[in-house]
Amino acid sequence: SRRKLIAGNWKMNGLSGALGYFSELAPVAAGASADVLVCPPATLIHAAVQACAGTGIRVGGQDCHAQDHGAYTGDISAAMLRDCGATHVILGHSERRAAHGETDGDVRAKAVAALAAGLVPVICVGETLAEREAGRAVEVVARQLAGSLPENSAILDLVIAYEPVWAIGTGRTASAADVAAMHAAIRERLPDPLTTCILYGGSVKPGNARELLSLADVDGALVGGASLDAADFSAIIEAV
Ligand code: 13P
Repeated sequence: SRRKLIAGNWKMNGLSGALGYFSELAPVAAGASADVLVCPPATLIHAAVQACAGTGIRVGGQDCHAQDHGAYTGDISAAMLRDCGATHVILGHSERRAAHGETDGDVRAKAVAALAAGLVPVICVGETLAEREAGRAVEVVARQLAGSLPENSAILDLVIAYEPVWAIGTGRTASAADVAAMHAAIRERLPDPLTTCILYGGSVKPGNARELLSLADVDGALVGGASLDAADFSAIIEAV
């Protein structure tokens, strides 16, 4: 059966207290019934891996390039993330789809590269408010899945994160019924529905984590803002 996963996405936030953060998180992660993943900015991955040694906390990147190496100024490859100890990489986050024009095809190419480098891709999908209000949420997410997942992905180790764009950083979460319906719709479309983890993301907080994490087909959470605070992130881990 699937193990739950609680993942933190620090986005573009450095934590001056990163070492204290991990020492607070370590005992929580050790006692947790879920796997714990932290995705700091690339500049902190190496330090985070060292701080998490022996704790079981996994460290991931927030993006990678589709190529292994080369003349791509400013970019970081999946192999480089792997080299510094990352185990996962978030791909196709809506902030990158929106601000960097990443297409489903780009996300697929990055996912292929991540898998080749031995990383678990955390592939993000989610509709905008306009798409949801137009009744097109499932259609949009289905199209993103079809375009973003590697082909022949049946045997591959990957994670899906459903993050409705309008719930990210807004304090609004999708209703329990909407989350459950979308996660079921996603599961139906996965090549490996039994083993693939589907996370919910979008304003997950200590106060709503228990309800969201108890829903059928919700295998964990991708937490933004609340993952920056060790106490809040710990409370979400403990809600599993
Ligand atoms: P918030 O938890 O801050 O809404 O961010 C969610 C998210 O985008 C995680 O990837």
